[in-house]
Amino acid sequence: MTPKIERFFVEHRPPTPCLVVDLDVVEKNYRRLRRALPLAEVYYAVKANPAPEILRTLVGLGSNFDAASAHEIDQCLTAGAAPERVSYGNTIKKTVDIAHAFARGLRLFAFDSEAELEKLAAAAPASRVFCRILTSGEGAEWPLSRKFGCELDMARDLMLRARDMGLEPHGISFHVGSQQTNPGQWEIAIARTAMVFADLRDAGVEPKMVNLGGGFPVRYRDDVPGLDSFADAIMKAMTRHFGNDLPGMIIEPGRCVAAEAGVLETEVVLISTKAYGDDLRWVYLDVGKFSGLAETMDEAIRYPIRTPRDGARHGPVVIAGPTCDGADILYEKAGYTLPLDLRPGDRVRLLATGAYTTTYASVGFNGYIPLKAYYI
Ligand SMILES: *Cc1c(COP(=O)(O)O)cnc(C)c1O
Repeated sequence: MTPKIERFFVEHRPPTPCLVVDLDVVEKNYRRLRRALPLAEVYYAVKANPAPEILRTLVGLGSNFDAASAHEIDQCLTAGAAPERVSYGNTIKKTVDIAHAFARGLRLFAFDSEAELEKLAAAAPASRVFCRILTSGEGAEWPLSRKFGCELDMARDLMLRARDMGLEPHGISFHVGSQQTNPGQWEIAIARTAMVFADLRDAGVEPKMVNLGGGFPVRYRDDVPGLDSFADAIMKAMTRHFGNDLPGMIIEPGRCVAAEAGVLETEVVLISTKAYGDDLRWVYLDVGKFSGLAETMDEAIRYPIRTPRDGARHGPVVIAGPTCDGADILYEKAGYTLPLDLRPGDRVRLLATGAYTTTYASVGFNGYIPLKAYYI
């Protein structure tokens, strides 16, 4: 919670639920990443929060962008990003969208399959392409699973195919899973990347770039290692495996740029128990899984919660959203407690909610409008 956000809430008392994002924190987070990994170019993962205010702030700081769809590409360009600063990083693209990106001037594309390479060769000829390899997702609180990437021998073959198709086999990428709390996962992925590089060199192709993906964690309810632990692990692994012949490096942070910049204010709608004598209270908020808090799925992302009565005695709670859907429960098993004298009408704040919230809101499930956001 920054003084600027606090002042906004006091002066405007915006209707709840609403998210307030402090753009100074976005800038601070971007600069912190640049300092921690000065050799890596930053490609902000637009999907974390594509608000024009955030994109324009990052354009002003010289950032590059990782876009996942034709619309995200247009959002970057509208915000003032030059097309050579935008990467089309989704491995799953329609040919028309590849053609759209190519016509707008994009020349950097991800792939992880032969069928995708064929689309790229047809719709984005001679572009630079990078192949995504599988990672285990272990240690990540929001893993990206086996949906993306391919095994190392396939990556090697596909990079050679890319060359034969007239594309530029530019690099190898991976993503260790979002909210990744273990720096060792980058070391493993970098070692695997180096194996593909070595095989490609033997076959006469010299890739130029390693894309280290996103995944850098944010301090939610629980502590996480500092950014320096991740930067150290990455640079040590890069030097160990590539020596003095370091390839270009890209990182694609999303969460760690935007999350801590945002505070979500919500109102307590109802507090109840299910039986006489129960000390487990159900606290229903006016925000839930369908109004932006999709990452509470399986209680994966655990937001810090602040109430105006935090000094008082706490008791155990289930925290739920306002809709008539049984899945709209935020936390039941994660061990949250809230003050015993919390009342309906109290305004409660969820911290570190600037990433993966606004765009995860449904368009009007149960008549609740998408999450309103203010960028200050
Ligand atoms: C989602 C995503 C990111 C951002 O991940 P964070 O964990 O938010 O940093 C980066 N790259 C790709 C390809 C992604 O899909």
